[in-house]
Amino acid sequence: MNDREELWQAVLSDIELKISRPNFLTWLKNSRLVENQDGIAMVALPNNFAKEWVEVKYHKLILGSMRDLSGSIKKVEYVVEGNLSKKPLRQKIVKRAPIGFGDGQLAFQEMRVDPKTNLNPRYTLNSFIVGPFNELAHSATAAIIENVGVKYNPLFIYGGVGLGKTHLIQAAGNEIMSLYKDAVRVKYVTSEKFTNDVVWAIRNGRAEEIKKNYRDVDVLIIDDIQFIGGKEKTEEEFFHTFNALHENNKQIIISSDRPPRAIPTLEERLRSRFEGGMIVDISYPEYESRVAIIKTKLQEHGVELDDSSIDIIAKRVQKNIREIEGILNKLLFYQTTYKKALDTNTVDRIIAEATQQSMNKVSPSQIIKAVSAFFEISSNDLLGRARNKEFVEPRQIAMFLFRDMLSMSYPDIANRVGKRDHTTAIYAYKKIDSGIKGSSDLSQKIMMIKEVVNKTV
Ligand code: ADP
Ligand code: MG
Repeated sequence: MNDREELWQAVLSDIELKISRPNFLTWLKNSRLVENQDGIAMVALPNNFAKEWVEVKYHKLILGSMRDLSGSIKKVEYVVEGNLSKKPLRQKIVKRAPIGFGDGQLAFQEMRVDPKTNLNPRYTLNSFIVGPFNELAHSATAAIIENVGVKYNPLFIYGGVGLGKTHLIQAAGNEIMSLYKDAVRVKYVTSEKFTNDVVWAIRNGRAEEIKKNYRDVDVLIIDDIQFIGGKEKTEEEFFHTFNALHENNKQIIISSDRPPRAIPTLEERLRSRFEGGMIVDISYPEYESRVAIIKTKLQEHGVELDDSSIDIIAKRVQKNIREIEGILNKLLFYQTTYKKALDTNTVDRIIAEATQQSMNKVSPSQIIKAVSAFFEISSNDLLGRARNKEFVEPRQIAMFLFRDMLSMSYPDIANRVGKRDHTTAIYAYKKIDSGIKGSSDLSQKIMMIKEVVNKTV
């Protein structure tokens, strides 16, 4: 990696901690720093929509973080990848070697995802550090690798954000692939992708595609299953997929951020299927495991860090291994940039910056800001009475979110939005609510806006 790529990696590691995961993946995962000269940095985004969204929502964060890391930056500009002159830069990145910890190397790693299995080869059991907090999940995974489809089926792994669920279930897939080669067909999918496929199949009258894609496998790995709760068609389709696979002793591996009984909108029949297998959790790593994780990752990347700094990191970051990696990425950046050992002050500062979390609660004005930024209209227009087509849907979405995220009363909502009658608010809520069920486009929009609301405080 050159300096520019390293700088960008460090910026991304920083931003990753400040915005939600889905937002990060949606908007910034495929970004690159294509130029950094004379104080002007140029960031490339994959399409115009992403470019505009990043400009609106994340410019301040990006600029701040770049200034932090490289004092000489005066200005950040954004371009669409396709509009760049095609020659030099493109070819370079394809072959660049991965540096950086964990998802910090996403842009690079993502290119290597196997299109047949959707597995990312970076997730291996070898690189998975085992401690008391994840021992059970690890040994259950090891057991199914040896006895695919017959030992624990399904294997259901749950735990909080950034604690290694995706890593472990993908590692299971990779391990099975390398053990059994072409004799098994493995498929990894997030539950969002599964949902999108179901929506697509329904809209296009192609239900058989789901069967073809999801039942013709020996191992189905489904990540973050909690998101299918409440999506009836998807749940139904998954139920049938599950049964078809299970009856034929095909292995099913599921991850979730909570146990089946705590997914409130999950259909009973699915819940009981999940509970019919092996359920294991990954809890928070204890201090010793955190130190082991930090030390191993530092060693893998040849970064030197004194014990007292390791101790600081292990004490400050207790609940999220991804956060630990974010800090290590920043340290790595400083070390390679300034080519000297890190002093405690710098380490302290980096850790403090990385661990300050916004604890604020969602407010109506955040919803207003996010919706108007998303649709690029002013908040006056959003909340006003004009009935122009371009204001009506955003306004209904805002009303829907007031209800959905803040449980505001209909009269309050109506009052907030142009002093309308409360039936208008009821109508808007119902319209969007049923719209989401019928349109993946709309539900995608809502999901993105919600993520922004949740994080840009
Ligand atoms: P989750 O899916 O639970 O949110 P991930 O699997 O994405 O978490 O893990 C977050 C990051 O931490 C990843 O980069 C992953 O490689 C790393 N990680 C998590 N657990 C471990 C572990 N036990 N050993 C090494 N790295 C880990
Ligand atoms: Mg995950």
